[in-house]
Amino acid sequence: MTEVIESGKVVFINYTLKNDAGEVLDTSEGGDPLFYLHGAQNIVEGLEEELSGKKVGDSLSVSIPPEKGYGTRVEPGVQEFERTIFPPNVELEVGMPFHAELPDGRMVAFWVQKIEEDKVYMDPNHPLAGETLNFDVEVVRVRDANDEEKEHGHPHGPEGDAGHHH
Ligand code: ZN
Repeated sequence: MTEVIESGKVVFINYTLKNDAGEVLDTSEGGDPLFYLHGAQNIVEGLEEELSGKKVGDSLSVSIPPEKGYGTRVEPGVQEFERTIFPPNVELEVGMPFHAELPDGRMVAFWVQKIEEDKVYMDPNHPLAGETLNFDVEVVRVRDANDEEKEHGHPHGPEGDAGHHH
């Protein structure tokens, strides 16, 4: 039976992601395949679109524009915050994302750029915002998601039975 990628399937892929300069930004090579729930926005929109309808054994090379990847860059970029906006027990690390709710209820994310003793510099742009994403992808496995996975919007381990607590 040939499993086709569509909403409600857990999809396993090997992938390599390069920017337009040909630098490898991320890869599954040397590790286990990445798995995600199709149709649940677990991966960037452009790649999810390209994978729809593909089957196990298919390979694809696709270029995803920023609009369907991690977004275009917004201004202002890096902004300065007082270290005290974070609880003292929070371990800050460069590259870490933080999510905050605006007064109007919208969620925004910031990525930590630089940390000083009493200041933290954060960027509302994802580190890959503005980049064209060049993916080489091989579909290695497709399985049905179980009801709980569909409800949560993400896979529970490779077999869907991983101990999982929310
Ligand atoms: Zn879950």
